[in-house]
Amino acid sequence: MREHTMNAAIAAAVLLLSALPAIAQEPPRWSLAIHGGAGVIERAGMTPEQDAAYRVALNRALEAGAAVLRDGGAAMDAVQAAVEVMEDDPLFNAGRGAVFTAAGRNELDAAVMDGTDLRAGSVAGLTRTRHPIAAARAVMERSPHVMLAGEGADAFAASVGLEQVDPAWFFTERRWQSLAQILRQRGDPIPPRPAGAPAPGGAMAEAAQPPLNERKYGTVGAVALDVQGRLAAATSTGGTTGKRWGRIGDAPVIGAGTYASNTDGCAVSATGAGEYFIRSTVARDICVRTREGATPQQAAEAEIADVGSIGGDGGVIVMGRDGTFGFAMNTSGMYRGAVGQDRPATVAIYGDEAPR
Ligand code: ASP
Repeated sequence: MREHTMNAAIAAAVLLLSALPAIAQEPPRWSLAIHGGAGVIERAGMTPEQDAAYRVALNRALEAGAAVLRDGGAAMDAVQAAVEVMEDDPLFNAGRGAVFTAAGRNELDAAVMDGTDLRAGSVAGLTRTRHPIAAARAVMERSPHVMLAGEGADAFAASVGLEQVDPAWFFTERRWQSLAQILRQRGDPIPPRPAGAPAPGGAMAEAAQPPLNERKYGTVGAVALDVQGRLAAATSTGGTTGKRWGRIGDAPVIGAGTYASNTDGCAVSATGAGEYFIRSTVARDICVRTREGATPQQAAEAEIADVGSIGGDGGVIVMGRDGTFGFAMNTSGMYRGAVGQDRPATVAIYGDEAPR
């Protein structure tokens, strides 16, 4: 009888203990962080109008993602929504406004990763798909593959109904002039203006044109945690100005520019000198660091120090499974922003501003 009572007491205690985490654990609070590229971005090099234009654009992208998360939507939908806004914005080197290859083309790379099941999709060298990030997601969800490149990638995107545009859609005068400048410095020939591009000095004389001597990476990315605790990452880019021979950077390489893992407690998107980020397997390394107990901020800083030690410059954004995030860069600035259930949207450009 005494034994029976004791067993019942133990059973009750076990029941209580197993219920405790459920009582103590609150549902995850949604959180979103974005970047629009890192590089030599200094106050002295920006007019007040340019500074303001970037902040407006970053806030717009944050709001697109926050609207999804606030409604209980998926982290994957949120990162795609935020990135698509930046892909359509000529200020950023992704989608419209992408940099040019040496041959005078826009070749677009993008990737997504779902932290819950490690599914991933990526595309490289797109020339006709308006939203490369949507193509990357379609590769993940609607093909048996992880990475598609070139003509085939555009054909796949078209086959699943994604919007196709004339390549001139991606043209901006600012990026064209940057290409001309780089090719002149290299002593290489300047290709003819792309078919369908506006005449020089025409429509693209926007007020917010940054100076042509800018040295920055304008890749865009987003990382998010949703209220169901799912992590997701997305990155989209035109790559580097004057790239040749079908060059592909880190953005579409899973584990280099993009990675997410709920088990490891991280979602990562990078921007910078892609070759170095590939060699350092930056995004995956960061997730190993968070798995081993580093906070997103610690993991981001340690990894940027490592990539810097082999000569790479750039930045990363990292989301943790509790919604805390990290920003790190070894450049003077990075276009960036964050918003969450508990915090209003904040955007920043220079290295000395929060969030960082
Ligand atoms: N990481 C990109 C690349 O190397 C460039 C960028 O961040 O803008 O393709």
